[in-house]
Amino acid sequence: MRPLDEHRAAALALAAPLEHEERGLDELDGMVLAQDVRSEEYLPRWDNSAMDGYAVRAADLTPGVQLRVIAELAAGTGDEPVVGPGTAARIMTGAPMPEGADAVVPVEDSDGGTATVTIHVVPATGAHIRRSGEDAVPGDLLVAAGTALGPAHIAAIASVGRATVLVHRRPRVAVVSTGDELVPPGTPLLRGQLPDSNSWLLAAAVREAGGVPIRIGPVGDDPLALHALLVGLEDVDLIVTSGGVSMGAYDVVKAALADEPGVEFVRVAVQPGKPQGLGRLPNGTPIVTLPGNPVSSFASFEMFVRPALRRMAGHVDVEPPTVTTISDDAWTTPPERAQIMPVRFVSDGGHPHVVRATGRGSGSHLVARLALAEGLAVIPAAVDEVSVGDGINVLRVKP
Ligand code: AMP
Ligand code: MG
Repeated sequence: MRPLDEHRAAALALAAPLEHEERGLDELDGMVLAQDVRSEEYLPRWDNSAMDGYAVRAADLTPGVQLRVIAELAAGTGDEPVVGPGTAARIMTGAPMPEGADAVVPVEDSDGGTATVTIHVVPATGAHIRRSGEDAVPGDLLVAAGTALGPAHIAAIASVGRATVLVHRRPRVAVVSTGDELVPPGTPLLRGQLPDSNSWLLAAAVREAGGVPIRIGPVGDDPLALHALLVGLEDVDLIVTSGGVSMGAYDVVKAALADEPGVEFVRVAVQPGKPQGLGRLPNGTPIVTLPGNPVSSFASFEMFVRPALRRMAGHVDVEPPTVTTISDDAWTTPPERAQIMPVRFVSDGGHPHVVRATGRGSGSHLVARLALAEGLAVIPAAVDEVSVGDGINVLRVKP
């Protein structure tokens, strides 16, 4: 049996970062930046008021002084009044500081007048002015290449006036579920049939991992038809199949790809998810074939597919974040195989977190119970049982 880490590495080796493309601001969330974004100007661009109030000459002022109001400056104004001795400009937050003024009196420190204003509190020179360049100056690095973009990065990019940036293209992933027993959810079931859940599971997982899923299926257990379908897929960066890779009589994926020299089927030392396959089709498209039991498909996606997808999407760090937790539960694990156990967090507040298995045993068919899982405990092959109080590494599957 192939060690878990070795198969992970083989899956990862199928992936390379995808090419760069220019994308607009509303498409960037979760994408990986492929260029440094620097400020080309001073931010703020000009000195401006931090308060609603009056732009004044601080040196002119004494408590109770009355000034003539010579202008009204709202944010966005292009007016360029000059504040001379004995005068003030009414100014709103964000409006450019007028020439001659060197401080802002907040409106609450005045009588709020519009023709004239009486100043109650004398400000220090420079008070309540946002200085040009205090946020960034030309050349400052705002967001570095390799950053996975979130809302704050996108704001920084927009603030320097960029409408598009270079990012790594999102991987397009064909998701194919196989099985004669499967029908689309919503279809009335005949005896022996069940709704396809894996293609939806995998499509959602691909999307969550930053890819674009192309969901296909369920398709029947016909090896020739499946072979034709798989080798005919165009414009995809990765194919992920579910089902048909074990030792049974109808293992369609295995049969369909048996004569493909670029694809290998192996047994991986992990539970669930022992039967696995991966490789490349003749046109070069990488393929990862996952077992059909829903928990196996889910765990296998996290183990083998997500890191590869992250690499394609341009992420530098492709390994999923794990947390060290304490088990509040005891179970045995298969000898000499790693185990992936769905767990939930019992006390999320404390540190370290405490987890419990979502069910007895790691039944790979327990799809309903899978919905309770907040993480996947990864128990190394060398560990044969987990006891209450043991430290275990958990990969979070729910934020
Ligand atoms: P297989 O790996 O094809 O032998 O499937 C193993 C088990 O998982 C069988 O009980 C299947 O019915 C079930 N299964 C396979 N594919 C799916 C799917 N797409 N959705 C739900 N269950 C599935
Ligand atoms: Mg099957």
